[in-house]
Amino acid sequence: MSSAGACILTDRTAEKLNALIAELNPSSVTLLTDENTAQYCLPLLATELPAFSHITVPAGEQNKNLGGATQVWKEMTDLQIDRKGLLIVLGGGVLGDMGGFCASTYKRGINFILIPTTLLAQVDASVGGKLGIDFEDFKNHIGVFQNPVATIIDSRFLKTVPGSELRSGFAEIIKHCIISDAAMFEKISKKDLESQQLGELVAHSVAFKKDVVTKDPKESGLRKILNFGHTIGHGIESLSLSSSHRLLHGEAIAIGMITESWIACRKQMISSDELNQITRFIKQIFGKETIPAATGDLIRVISQDKKNLGNRILMALPEGIGNCKWDVAVTPEEITASLEYYLSA
Ligand code: NAD
Repeated sequence: MSSAGACILTDRTAEKLNALIAELNPSSVTLLTDENTAQYCLPLLATELPAFSHITVPAGEQNKNLGGATQVWKEMTDLQIDRKGLLIVLGGGVLGDMGGFCASTYKRGINFILIPTTLLAQVDASVGGKLGIDFEDFKNHIGVFQNPVATIIDSRFLKTVPGSELRSGFAEIIKHCIISDAAMFEKISKKDLESQQLGELVAHSVAFKKDVVTKDPKESGLRKILNFGHTIGHGIESLSLSSSHRLLHGEAIAIGMITESWIACRKQMISSDELNQITRFIKQIFGKETIPAATGDLIRVISQDKKNLGNRILMALPEGIGNCKWDVAVTPEEITASLEYYLSA
């Protein structure tokens, strides 16, 4: 994989994009949106860009699969995009993951630029080169590591993001603070979501994630800390996709952070006070969700997690707020007990 692509924080996206297009001199420019980003985000750019083709796909995680990718590959083929073509992905994490994956595999890979339009995509999904789609019950099961030419992060896009989606993205900000910055966790945990300084937090998260993925681009060690909350969280998110109670990514990760913190506490990696602080703050922001699956099904999905080794379930767990340890072996019984804690806390 190439070195981590540049992350540009700006409120002049069109200007930055035009400069990049001039530099790359692609044979064609294609913009990928979903139905919502076509409506809310494209108007902020369209008139200021050179000629481009436009592909738009249905919104939502339920389309981040082979069917969704096939639609994008088919339209790219119909547009006769060659290997010098450029794909600009204007959307949230779903579109960034799938669009980047389609660009990275189309004709063995063409250049792409990510313009993340949700909080979650800005602070997490668009940084670090993980691309992919879901497969059957398994989240991000098929994918590649590949960096975009650049990621352009513009806070203006957040103005139209629905409140529940903004809250979902905030889960990743909480995660970054718990695993890396006790003082910042202390600061955010004193405020509700509406009072947070999102500009400062986006910059903080992007700088932290960029640093980690630059040190360990392919997740052989350090990068695994970013998976805190995601082993149980991804299992819950995967199963919620096929249930009547669908959870957003961040809502599932919020449950994952509480349950995995309980496991960390049981292993004496964090104190009871720290567990209470984490649980109280996350529940204050996210409330208490029902778990949309039987524990047995959840363990089955978690057992397939990409981070496991052999038949051992491995997690990244906080070691005191502000630090994190990876590859900690966890038993199915600990997961079951952590879910009971979540439901009773
Ligand atoms: P999303 O992409 O589904 O976007 C949420 C909703 O908001 C969608 O309906 C979308 O159309 C709409 N939307 C997007 N931008 C908007 C805007 N500016 N105004 C109005 N509506 C807008 O969801 P998400 O939370 O951004 O991303 C979740 C995905 O990110 C998951 O699939 C998850 O696996 C992935 N992810 C990837 C990584 C990674 O490292 N690659 C990291 C974290 C999460």
